[in-house]
Amino acid sequence: MEPIIKTKDLSLVYDLGKSNETTALKDVNIEIYPEEYVVIFGPSGCGKSTLLYCLAGLEEPTSGNICVENKCIQDLSHKQMVEYHRSQVGMIFQSYHLIPTLSVLDNVALPQIFEGSNRLKREKIAKDLLKHFGVLDQAQKRPTQLSGGQQQRVAISRAMVNNPLIIFADEPVGNLDSKSAEVVLGLLQQLNEQHKKTIILVTHDPQAIHYAHRVIHMKDGQVIKETRNPKKKSIAPKGKEITPSSVILESLASSYPELSESALKAKALAQFIITDFEQMEINRLEEIIEKRIKNELDRQTLSEALDLPFEKGGVGLYKQTANNITKRIEAILNESEYLKKEIKIRPESITTLDMQTKHLRIFLLDKYDGQMNFEQIARLEKFIKMRLMKEINSKQFKKSLDISFKKGGAGLKPSTAKHFTRRLEMALLNYKPK
Ligand code: ADP
Repeated sequence: MEPIIKTKDLSLVYDLGKSNETTALKDVNIEIYPEEYVVIFGPSGCGKSTLLYCLAGLEEPTSGNICVENKCIQDLSHKQMVEYHRSQVGMIFQSYHLIPTLSVLDNVALPQIFEGSNRLKREKIAKDLLKHFGVLDQAQKRPTQLSGGQQQRVAISRAMVNNPLIIFADEPVGNLDSKSAEVVLGLLQQLNEQHKKTIILVTHDPQAIHYAHRVIHMKDGQVIKETRNPKKKSIAPKGKEITPSSVILESLASSYPELSESALKAKALAQFIITDFEQMEINRLEEIIEKRIKNELDRQTLSEALDLPFEKGGVGLYKQTANNITKRIEAILNESEYLKKEIKIRPESITTLDMQTKHLRIFLLDKYDGQMNFEQIARLEKFIKMRLMKEINSKQFKKSLDISFKKGGAGLKPSTAKHFTRRLEMALLNYKPK
């Protein structure tokens, strides 16, 4: 397969020869394939936007070249460049760039004017898109009357109006709250998966990375590495990317894209020492637990999924280990569910709090084989209650368990205090007191 976009030794220097000369891009060589979703990722100022604007033909490189569908875009005549922008490219920006004096509908229909479409046709296309992206009811409003998330959906509709091949998105969720960001990222994913658009998205935010097939990491104007998303089927042929040297690092890199290679190595080593799991297995384990939390799996299927070989979608654990882990997960989920239910049934009742405290005390002591006398148990309950009422945080809870009985604590061993605290915090994952 031929790349849809290819750069060769692309460099761009701003203010060349002046005292404020800035090298924004240095010898960038990348290839992007049709229908790929690629994220260009890196810290602020590393040259991501400059690269995007070069690819979109909005910025002229100082040297090197950019080929789109095998045509070098620097060689295009002015007319051909206009045509490239009009028919091949859709742009989405962080600050939407909608025209404030036009209605939402006219904003979306505008690029169709240059295509020579009549008003009826323009409006039909624009309305269909607004409907598709869930903002048709806003069509007659001005952009500023819309929320940020809605404005970005209008901007996506506008980017799609001429049915381009490639969508360029510059920090498209940078101004949005996390919920609206999820929606917009979901829509971009849909454009890629269902509408088969090639997407190139620039961001410094790791949240956006997980949707991509591939991530191109940049630093100081250069590409420092490329990673693939193990959860998506690769489109780019293998072997050309500069990836971390081992499979373990590659898999870690896709979960923690913001980490440097040495930090990834440290993580891999720490993981090796403290758990038997590799990152890929942890990711799979998380996916399966999430399904259980959402009740898409029952206890039995959870255990089976943990046991199932990795290649078949499971975690590939021994049956006994799968059973043990299932038991631990279920104990925590049951406790958590119990707390949630009790709050719903008797939100204000003080006895509810006492019942929950007792329940949690039994939960904590269930797996405890050390000795605790009656007074220590009473202290433990007291601290659990204080934690439930948010009078203390988890750190203070741990400390209270650890402090000697004489000094007002529960007098537990530090390791027990730590273990109880972790178990309690797990059980409180769902706990939202009124
Ligand atoms: P990013 O998108 O990763 O935040 P940019 O591509 O915007 O980075 O910027 C890369 C470097 O080029 C930065 O040092 C920035 O200050 C500089 N730069 C960007 N645009 C211009 C410009 N129009 N004139 C001069 N310098 C610029």
